[in-house]
Amino acid sequence: MDLLTILNHCHRHRGFVYQHARFGPGKKTIEVDVRPRRGTAAVCSGCHKPAPGYDHLPERRFEFIPLWGILVFFLYRMRRVDCRGCGVLVEEVSWGDGKHQLTRAYMLFLARWARKLSWKEAAESFQTSWDKVRDAVNYVVTWGLANRKLESIRAIGVDEIQYAKGHKYLTLVYQIDQGLTRLLWVGKERTIESFKGFFTVIGDQLASQIEFVCSDMWKPYLDVIREKCSQALHILDRFHIVAKMNKALDQVRAAESRRMAQDGHPPLLSKSRWCVLKRSENLTSKHSSSGDTTRRVGPECSWTSGANKPCVAASNRSRRSPALCALTALYCSTISRPGSGSPAAWSRASTTKPKLP
Ligand SMILES: [Zn+2]
Repeated sequence: MDLLTILNHCHRHRGFVYQHARFGPGKKTIEVDVRPRRGTAAVCSGCHKPAPGYDHLPERRFEFIPLWGILVFFLYRMRRVDCRGCGVLVEEVSWGDGKHQLTRAYMLFLARWARKLSWKEAAESFQTSWDKVRDAVNYVVTWGLANRKLESIRAIGVDEIQYAKGHKYLTLVYQIDQGLTRLLWVGKERTIESFKGFFTVIGDQLASQIEFVCSDMWKPYLDVIREKCSQALHILDRFHIVAKMNKALDQVRAAESRRMAQDGHPPLLSKSRWCVLKRSENLTSKHSSSGDTTRRVGPECSWTSGANKPCVAASNRSRRSPALCALTALYCSTISRPGSGSPAAWSRASTTKPKLP
């Protein structure tokens, strides 16, 4: 089996034939001569129709997928056609696109690897340059955008990603429909204007069909969602809700602690921060009081350290402060899910920041 047989098997191009394959200078490359199949007319790159030939351009090199670590080039003299409708134009060839030096197959190959590796690593792995990897990715993304269909979007997720050094962010919008997950849009910064750019792209009609929006609690996002997707169910990032709840709960605990001290009660709440904020399995002996899981603090409230996540002791409801009651009720309703077992199980899952695809 020779190289031309393999090429014909994997990358046959209608209207063209692989004529000859040989080593290049120093045996560092493989050069494959390509010629038009006899009796086949050239295709106009303007109207994509066959057209009479006009002349030939100098030989051009198209870089193909490396074979066994050896660079492979297609060598071909492009024809110019004299098209009735378009005039004199360079012909269209199925393995190349415009002035790209890489073949389509190689650009697709590099772009796929660039999803798994950094562009630099991809370039080093296949003995090419960073610029060529960038061109390959750019080509594939441009093709994808040109052929993208935005017919129906039911659910979107928005999040920011930090890049480079310092506070530099991009806003990413994903479609997260069941069975269809894809990146829809990337905008600079994480401002109201940048997120609004997404809705400018999809238009008001498509935006009005969105049923679910997932986001974190970044205020510019919340403002835009309220304005552009008021009809959608807005699902907040569980991680941030739990973080906010923890912060508020700690503020209440600290306030209660100060008030206990002012009222002359023992300062039992003063070092109890992690008793209520930590998971039960992470509590150490100093976080509990001699096996008694309940800390009772004065006449106002009592705290349970043994239960997972903060819970006010089940007994003596009247002893809790109104602020604490309201907060813990809200907290428990947030982290509990009907039928999911204990709030603790849900709470454990809540501490991991969910990632968008
Ligand atoms: Zn034409």
